[in-house]
Amino acid sequence: MAPANQLSGVAGEAIIIWDFDRTIMDDDSDRWVVVEMGLTPLFNQLRQTLPWNSLMDRMMEELHSQGKTIEDIINCLNRVQLHPQIISAIRAAHAQGCDMKVLSDANQFFIETILKNHGIYDCFSDIITNPTFVDKEGRLRIFPYHGSAMPPHGCDLCPPNLCKGFVLNKIQDSTSQDIKKRAIIYIGDGRGDFCPTLKLREEDHVMPRKDFPLHRLISKSSTPIKPQIHEWSNGEELNKILIRLIDLVSPI
Ligand SMILES: [Mg+2]
Ligand SMILES: [Zn+2]
Repeated sequence: MAPANQLSGVAGEAIIIWDFDRTIMDDDSDRWVVVEMGLTPLFNQLRQTLPWNSLMDRMMEELHSQGKTIEDIINCLNRVQLHPQIISAIRAAHAQGCDMKVLSDANQFFIETILKNHGIYDCFSDIITNPTFVDKEGRLRIFPYHGSAMPPHGCDLCPPNLCKGFVLNKIQDSTSQDIKKRAIIYIGDGRGDFCPTLKLREEDHVMPRKDFPLHRLISKSSTPIKPQIHEWSNGEELNKILIRLIDLVSPI
């Protein structure tokens, strides 16, 4: 039996964890909906008074009170463009047998709608994010991931509603021995992606978006960063690096 950290032979395909905003999507999905649906003045007015998550829930209440429907929100989300090279990277990684998950501080409804619209929803085994549901009045509700069903995370690197490092640990722990031998490739841009980066192992890889907060935090980190670091700036670069990495970590 090969040691757990040896990637060749027994490793299996990589597990790829994708951030969503400014990673899969070039823009930010919350910002997109706020701007496109004319909520900017109210958003700015309430920005200092509510945590982000509650603020977005409040924005959905506002849309509902204006008579906007779930269909209107879907139509707005369906106008989001994804970079063709990101779509093809996702398709290629899926075809290669990689297990892919989205880990995002956006929300379930926005992410699922956008991925479905681009025909790549089925490429992901899991979407871990702030949960949503449509209530009986037809209003979209958005809740924190660490809400009533999940204990507070106590991590001072992360916002109260979601510690991505907590989720990464769960993925690392809950899975079988098989998965412990598989490399994790983590792709992200934001501050919230730093905590999970610190939990990656030497045989893992992190792909920070160049000159975005995660990249800056990694560059000046006093804690050593264990995974290999591969920076990218746009869809072409992300695609090229990811495809090369998948080949690298795949069993022979
Ligand atoms: Mg992001
Ligand atoms: Zn954290």
